[in-house]
Amino acid sequence: MFIYEALRKELRSKKYRMTAQREIILKIFAESDEKHLGAEDVYRKLIEKRYRISKATVYRTVELLSKLGFLRKLEFGEGIYRYELAAQNKDTLHQHIICKNCGNIAEIDEKLVNELVKNVASKTGYIIDYHDIKFYGLCPKCQTENSSIPTNNT
Ligand SMILES: [Zn+2]
Ligand SMILES: [Zn+2]
Repeated sequence: MFIYEALRKELRSKKYRMTAQREIILKIFAESDEKHLGAEDVYRKLIEKRYRISKATVYRTVELLSKLGFLRKLEFGEGIYRYELAAQNKDTLHQHIICKNCGNIAEIDEKLVNELVKNVASKTGYIIDYHDIKFYGLCPKCQTENSSIPTNNT
């Protein structure tokens, strides 16, 4: 698969070795249904798949993969970092909206975000080369659960 070939090349150019562990951890991200994984999640998934990799190695590896640009490092005010597979094109970064109740993370289409960034650039006169926008609130599921408080009308 292309991504592993790219990782191998990138590691070699930075004088790192392509280890089985590095490839497996990248594979966890590529194959996971959940997209935004903390190091603990990665570790848990490795255990489920019966891989023997120490927790310290998992932490070091996700950090290295994010430094090399294969993973995007995310922080949602939970006191942990999460990671996701990095986009090929940095101009089309999606952003995130996080439920304060259940912790669900949804992605915001990059078109919406680009529109906002363009507006901010024209209003401020800045050339924007980086942005990191997060939205917090209550997801639709939690809204219906919160509103389904039993009433006395039977
Ligand atoms: Zn929720
Ligand atoms: Zn995402």
